[in-house]
Amino acid sequence: MIEVRDLDVVFASGKQENHVVKEVSFKVARGETLGIVGESGCGKSTLLRCLAGMERGWSGEIALAGRVVSKTRSREDLKCAQMVFQDPYGSLHPRHRIGTALAEPLKAMNHVDIWQKVDKALRQVGLPAGFANRFPHELSGGQRQRVAIARSLILSPPILLLDEPTSALDVSIQAEILNLLADQRDERGLTYVLVSHDLAVIAHMCDRVLIMKDGRFVDELTKADLQTGVTHHAYARELFGAS
Ligand code: ATP
Ligand code: MG
Repeated sequence: MIEVRDLDVVFASGKQENHVVKEVSFKVARGETLGIVGESGCGKSTLLRCLAGMERGWSGEIALAGRVVSKTRSREDLKCAQMVFQDPYGSLHPRHRIGTALAEPLKAMNHVDIWQKVDKALRQVGLPAGFANRFPHELSGGQRQRVAIARSLILSPPILLLDEPTSALDVSIQAEILNLLADQRDERGLTYVLVSHDLAVIAHMCDRVLIMKDGRFVDELTKADLQTGVTHHAYARELFGAS
């Protein structure tokens, strides 16, 4: 479902070059959830943004759902992989009602179909239809993240890119959002790439985890590694503070 080969990202500021993603290659099968962990600044979000079509300055090859992705992505490519961010405020306009935010990706459809879809999308993430009339600041953090998930799913993409989707939420709400994400994945056969600092979140959600350091993948943990602990992997041990 996802194939990345020799992905490189270099940011240039003035005369300085910052090589942020280095020769990264990986595959994710349909329905699989791949975790990515690594210390702050190692390039995780940059990598996800390349897959989401939000970075231009990359080189290498990216294929999503069997289509090779070009750097100037078409609308078709963009429907393929949607991103969910740590802070849902980042993807919701403060002065747009929730219904407007959800309807925005659907603008090519007719009016009645759009509002039916918006109602359905809210219900699927456990929110009443009345929420369509609210503004983002009238929702709790967990409700805002539900809306962000609904919005990312509204065009039925096969791939969701989750960048710390629960780290800004209370522990009790984190579990709700993770369950919602797991349910949607299982019902729709979605493929996830999940970035998180939280080993419990990773162990709960992921089939496999890649460890990133200074822009490279340096290790891989299987589901069994995740369940038994990470003691064989020196850098992972350091990262998670495990003994
Ligand atoms: P965190 O865990 O803190 O979210 P991360 O692994 O997601 O970190 P990135 O956000 O991918 O890290 O950033 C990797 C590096 O790239 C950092 O040094 C950052 O300063 C730099 N960087 C990210 N975006 C840009 C940009 N648009 N222009 C220049 N440098 C950038
Ligand atoms: Mg990040």
